Amino acid sequence: MNPLDANDPLARYRERFLPTPGLISYLDGNSLGRPLAASVERVETFLREEWAGKLIRGWDDGWMSQPLTVGDELGRVALGAAPGQVAIGDSTTVLLYKTIRAALDARPDRTEIAIDLENFPTDRYLVEGIASDRGLTVRWVDTDPAAGVTPELVAAAVGPDTAVTLFSSVAYRSGFLAEVEAITALVHDAGALTIWDLSHSVGSVPTPLDDWGVDLAVGCGYKYLNGGPGAPAFLYVRRDLQGSLRQPIQGWLGSRTPFEMGQGYEPAEGIRGWLSGTPPMVGLQAMRDMIALIDEVGLDAVRTKSVALTKYAIALVDEHLPTATLASPRDAARRGGHITVDHPRFAELLPGLWASGVIPDFRRPDGLRLGPSPLSTSYAEVEAGVLAIRDALGE
Ligand SMILES: *Cc1c(COP(=O)(O)O)cnc(C)c1O
Repeated sequence: MNPLDANDPLARYRERFLPTPGLISYLDGNSLGRPLAASVERVETFLREEWAGKLIRGWDDGWMSQPLTVGDELGRVALGAAPGQVAIGDSTTVLLYKTIRAALDARPDRTEIAIDLENFPTDRYLVEGIASDRGLTVRWVDTDPAAGVTPELVAAAVGPDTAVTLFSSVAYRSGFLAEVEAITALVHDAGALTIWDLSHSVGSVPTPLDDWGVDLAVGCGYKYLNGGPGAPAFLYVRRDLQGSLRQPIQGWLGSRTPFEMGQGYEPAEGIRGWLSGTPPMVGLQAMRDMIALIDEVGLDAVRTKSVALTKYAIALVDEHLPTATLASPRDAARRGGHITVDHPRFAELLPGLWASGVIPDFRRPDGLRLGPSPLSTSYAEVEAGVLAIRDALGE
């Protein structure tokens, strides 16, 4: 047994996840989390007792409130958010669209949106589209691909014309962990609003949003929250902004009185006004188990193991992959839950690795991304993964 596993206080939680046949090393928990065994039971119970048992009566018997009650749980366990500020629903892409539009409408005299060139494609594409719709300017922050947005870079990019900024707390490729609080403060000094994409941090890195004064945040439900492929995303809107910001997708379930089916849209008060359509009831079940597990373990303990796993991965890369280049921060304080390693041959090696049960993912131009989800990944698995990459390279 790997001695790091023998001394790992969180090692036993690995057994709570469903086995995958032939799996040697899963290093992509940052892209799609593994299923918890508890979720099989929860989803089955939902189908049998809630869906079959209640049929349409379920909407009057608890379903309608779940996007907000699960949101509150997520807020408490992983986001440092007091109740009434987090909702589950839609995809990350759609929620980013809602928040960008709402923020722009709140700063009608300003003409710029700031975003970094290394941000996730959906974030960049949305900003490009909205800017062109509205005749606004995109202020591209030119980040180092092996690092990410720093207070210095952001300070140079924002000013009296900036309406809103959109950055990721953890960069999807490099894993760079941004100084969210400092950047938020300096964007506020410029009179603009911040949107943080938490997709690659939620569930692995603590982000106390209330304490940090974040305005708006959005994140993914299927990465470190293990909600399953295509699970709904979540949205955070700071309470004191909820009255003044207005989201653009005016659906019936965000209206004040959905079941009156009346004329004219009036938004519901509070975070419910940020919903649009029917809540994804089946889709939001599995993440409830991961939220409960993170609550049981404690997010700080999860982060501690996450840092140790990536530190171990970097040490193994240094030792065994001398011709590869680390494209992620060595400083643990600036690193999220995954790392990327570049090598010109990685694209051609990936299919063979996957076929052998070693599963990192590939990110252009030549990076293998290693994302050991802290509660489902052992140190032995990280070691087996790096050694398999070494063997594939013939080093
Ligand atoms: C995974 C990810 C997304 C995904 O958006 P979807 O709408 O779920 O496809 C968006 N942004 C970031 C930063 C991500 O890591």
